[in-house]
Order: sequence, then structure tokens, then C-alpha cells
Amino acid sequence: MPITGECFCGSIKYAINGSLKDARSCHCSRCRKAFSAQASSYALVEHDEFEWLQGADLLTSYQSQPGFGLQFCSRCGSTLCGTFNGLVHGITLGCINGDPEVEIGYHLFVGSRAAWEVIPEGVTTYEEGVPENA
Ligand SMILES: [Zn+2]
Ligand SMILES: [Zn+2]
Repeated sequence: MPITGECFCGSIKYAINGSLKDARSCHCSRCRKAFSAQASSYALVEHDEFEWLQGADLLTSYQSQPGFGLQFCSRCGSTLCGTFNGLVHGITLGCINGDPEVEIGYHLFVGSRAAWEVIPEGVTTYEEGVPENA
């Protein structure tokens, strides 16, 4: 069974014929803005295992730094995926349907989390990025 996902309004749907990798949550100020939330929730996909099933013409994009972008539904504003050099490179966990059989493995940049956020006990956290020896 492929993993499927869709935006809030349901206009855009996708499938992943493979597994999600390296699920993580980043609490930096950039990710908070990009995901309109306390943190990102994101996992990597192989671009050749990813396909848009419906509504790809409604996607709109924002390139945050050269090569790296995010794609959104132009009707409802859901952030659906991240791209690298125009290819889908990861997906936002919030738009997944059902259980993708991964859990967030670690929380990045908790040192710059929002003043109002409470990080749960027992999760793996890094003050900044993943250290070299992790
Ligand atoms: Zn939508
Ligand atoms: Zn971040």
C-alpha cells in the first residue's frame, strides 16, 4: 500500500511508493514561519518513489534559498513538500493520511524554540543541528 497524503482542501493528493526516511522536527525560527507552527515535521522521500495523483497544477512554490523550496496548495495554503533543484525531496508529515509507519526521531534547534513552546519529556533533542557524532 502506498503512503498517501493530501492538502487541507483535498484538491492536491499524492502517493509515495516507498518508505519515509529520517523523520524529524526542526524548531528554528525559519521552520516555524515556513510551517506556521511550533516546528517543522518533515521526512525525506526518494523523488522517484513520489507521485502527484491529483491537483499538481494547483501547486505554488517558494524558494527559501537557492535550490531549496517548499510547495503549497494555492487554494488552502497547506505546505505539502520540500524540493531540491525542483525535485520533491521530502514531505510534511502533517499532510499524510493515516499511519506512515515512521515516528519523529529527533528535534533540532530546540535552543531557538518559541518562548511559548513546551518540549515534551523523553524526546531526543539537539540545541542546534545534529552533532557530528550523533
Ligand atoms: Zn488545498
Ligand atoms: Zn529549521
